[in-house]
Amino acid sequence: MVEKVFWQDPYKTELDAVVTRAHGNSIWVDKTIFFAFSGGQASDKGTFNNINVVEAVKEEDTDDIHYVLESNPFKPGDRIHMTIDAEHRMRIMRLHGAAHVVDYFVLPKLGNPETIGSNVHEDKARLDFAYPESIAPMMAELQKEIDVFLSEPHAISVREGTDDLRHWICEEIDLPCGGTHLKNTAEIGEIKLRRKNIGAGKERIEITLLA
Ligand SMILES: [Zn+2]
Repeated sequence: MVEKVFWQDPYKTELDAVVTRAHGNSIWVDKTIFFAFSGGQASDKGTFNNINVVEAVKEEDTDDIHYVLESNPFKPGDRIHMTIDAEHRMRIMRLHGAAHVVDYFVLPKLGNPETIGSNVHEDKARLDFAYPESIAPMMAELQKEIDVFLSEPHAISVREGTDDLRHWICEEIDLPCGGTHLKNTAEIGEIKLRRKNIGAGKERIEITLLA
């Protein structure tokens, strides 16, 4: 199985690896910094020896990752140099951290409803809750509380359990998560929250970065 270097060092944007398997335009490698969509976090963008990665696929049954390339000249044993789009990854990590903070502040306000969806992409993050009424009246206060929290730096750490049971720790916040994470909330910067109605009994909060 691939060694997930994106967990050890989520700031690393280049890595040398060895191809372990190849099939059509898909390859498997011994280690990677290239995150594959899972837990709502978008895949990285990047290249292997300057060949674009079209899709990064997390294999749910094996927990391995394979990469579909634009074209595949590689065979097992070949050395490759992978690079990921650093700005894209950083925006995802900032929005991902922001989503955890928002989650922490909003859940108690709503009486800990079920989270029915979450997604983090380059442009925005969203959190969906099963909730019977509009949360519009509480958005201003929520935004204020989060602005105050984010105006001070808070260290983030990850407690490692087994592969899929990693925990995001920040102050008293402790969330199971297998994404890639910043070291400090100071890197998130200012964020804007927006409430969206996505149907009866469902409330969405969208998060965007102000810079
Ligand atoms: Zn996370």
